[in-house]
Amino acid sequence: MLEDKNQARTSLAELGEFGLINHITKHFKISQKTTLKGVGDDAAVLDASELQTLVTTDLLIEGVHFDLSYMPLKHLGYKSVVVNLSDVYAMNGSAEQITVSIAVSNRFPLEAIEELYAGIQLACETYNVDLIGGDTTSSNKGILISVTAIGKAQKEDIVYRDGAKETDLIVVSGDLGAAYLGLQVLEREKQVFKVNPNNQPDLDGYSYLIERQLKPEARKDISNLLKEMDVKPTAMIDISDGLSSEIMHICSQSKVGCKIYEEKLPLDPQVISTCEEFDIDSTMIALSGGEDYELLFTVPISDFEKVKGNPHLSIIGHITEKAAGMNLVTRANQELELKAQGWNALKNE
Ligand code: ADP
Ligand code: MG
Repeated sequence: MLEDKNQARTSLAELGEFGLINHITKHFKISQKTTLKGVGDDAAVLDASELQTLVTTDLLIEGVHFDLSYMPLKHLGYKSVVVNLSDVYAMNGSAEQITVSIAVSNRFPLEAIEELYAGIQLACETYNVDLIGGDTTSSNKGILISVTAIGKAQKEDIVYRDGAKETDLIVVSGDLGAAYLGLQVLEREKQVFKVNPNNQPDLDGYSYLIERQLKPEARKDISNLLKEMDVKPTAMIDISDGLSSEIMHICSQSKVGCKIYEEKLPLDPQVISTCEEFDIDSTMIALSGGEDYELLFTVPISDFEKVKGNPHLSIIGHITEKAAGMNLVTRANQELELKAQGWNALKNE
């Protein structure tokens, strides 16, 4: 629907594998002092330093994780980097390098791969990470992208999922549910377009939701913010599958329970109005929406004064003993058991 049908097309076969690798990587600059050798040899060389190394990877497949009819390739490149950096930040580390591997079918011209790499490069510049390698191969159908992010942290700064303690406060950055709603809006417009290709997508009033879906940002800032506030989380995770599912990971690994308060869930006004329009429950969306890439963490209750009132952070509940289970306290003061329903589950409803 957003594809421009009149673009120039240079076939990938014309360039060959090495021509392609050279073409897509030549504009990338190295900025991290720990990158000793990037693209161009059999392996990249990193300076191990005294810090601990964080490594995380994600695989994205066309038709499963993204739909190119509304996901521009530049955004796809950007997002595939950002979701990996988010995992490094969720360990309270700093991300320094990425590798990117792609498999592409001959349906894609060089110009499409250039778009993808323009997004990857923008993410590298925005988050100050170096592209240090990858692999390039062909696929029978569609496009596949795998990104690995490498980061560093002081041993004592790393925050795992298993450190939450009874009475700890549960805190989330930013707001929840917008990315999932953005996907719903894009899906709806795709259906309208299928019926009448002359219809221009009507995306007015949904800009925040669509931005959160197509151009998510990772919370690089939270680690510094917490340091400035002199707060070290006891457990932390990033929200890729939805708040419920992520808090359940923290609780099960930390062997504790939790209480989340419905009235404390941070929602953008566009989320509230769009939920009303689509007649869906905004609490459900905040709990199960996914792809928010916000950070969810726990802090000792003694840090309440430090965290309270920070515009980037919301205290949404607290950790309980394991036997109390994982519960949502509704506005009517009822307790409901939290369900581990990721956004994939929502999709199939
Ligand atoms: P090898 O055959 O040893 O695997 P390649 O020819 O695949 O080497 O890659 C040559 C160099 O280009 C390596 O440094 C590799 O990491 C890098 N590279 C290959 N594909 C990509 C890609 N899609 N993005 C970034 N770097 C890549
Ligand atoms: Mg290779």
